[in-house]
Amino acid sequence: MGTQQQQQKEEGEEGSAVKRRKVAAAADVTMDLELLDCPVCFHPLRPPVFQCTVGHAICSSCHDKVLEKCHFCAVPTVYNRCYMVEHVVESIKVSCSNGNYGCTARITYYQKEDHEKGCPYAPCFCPETGCSFSGQTAMLLDHFSGKHKWHSPKVVYSKAMRIRIHMGSTVLVGEDGHLFLVNMILESLGGVISVCNVQPHITGSKFKCKLTSSCSEPSFSQAMEFQTRSTNLYDGLPKDCFLFLVPKLLLRGTGASTTTMLGVTLTPQ
Ligand SMILES: [Zn+2]
Ligand SMILES: [Zn+2]
Ligand SMILES: [Zn+2]
Ligand SMILES: [Zn+2]
Repeated sequence: MGTQQQQQKEEGEEGSAVKRRKVAAAADVTMDLELLDCPVCFHPLRPPVFQCTVGHAICSSCHDKVLEKCHFCAVPTVYNRCYMVEHVVESIKVSCSNGNYGCTARITYYQKEDHEKGCPYAPCFCPETGCSFSGQTAMLLDHFSGKHKWHSPKVVYSKAMRIRIHMGSTVLVGEDGHLFLVNMILESLGGVISVCNVQPHITGSKFKCKLTSSCSEPSFSQAMEFQTRSTNLYDGLPKDCFLFLVPKLLLRGTGASTTTMLGVTLTPQ
């Protein structure tokens, strides 16, 4: 190896050693994250960031509202872009809150909320009283059928399926893995049924559900069609679902082993 090459190599090694030291040091840095929020609206600062002549930094939407006077100095001022703060907020990376559920994303601090609104690792929760299980929908399905022994028949979309619905919860598993929780409770008039779609983000897929209940002797049939409520079940079963009443005549069994046959059609929208 020539002397010149040797020298370059040493410089390169020294450079990467410095870089390593910086990264190692960064792992030790603590920071008050509130400093990264706009002091006027408390939302995270994101470029463009503006500062008054004294140096108070604000976000661009607050800048649009308080052009002439600084919120802090309360004196007329001129705002300028604050590139240093912009570089800082762009360089700060944080972990997604769903790290425990497998999300390894490192997100720019000001994009954390947006990421988490759509994070595919966001959990759903077990609605059973006294059970604190949470996890992605696939894990939740294992939990529902394994721990609680809830029946979990598969459904094909846009097709009327005849399904036995059990007292308490029955889990319908869509062909693409979506979970639907059918809940039946007994009331004096018969079985009261609700259906909700279990998914981590209420902004996710939407489904229409058609329920039918019928018998031939005596002749009876009824149908109801509605958009299913989406929920991550964080607060348990939603209280505001549409309710479908199955007359007592169409219930089989007694008490906790009561069942009924329902026609169910789930259609993605
Ligand atoms: Zn602001
Ligand atoms: Zn100021
Ligand atoms: Zn995430
Ligand atoms: Zn549970």
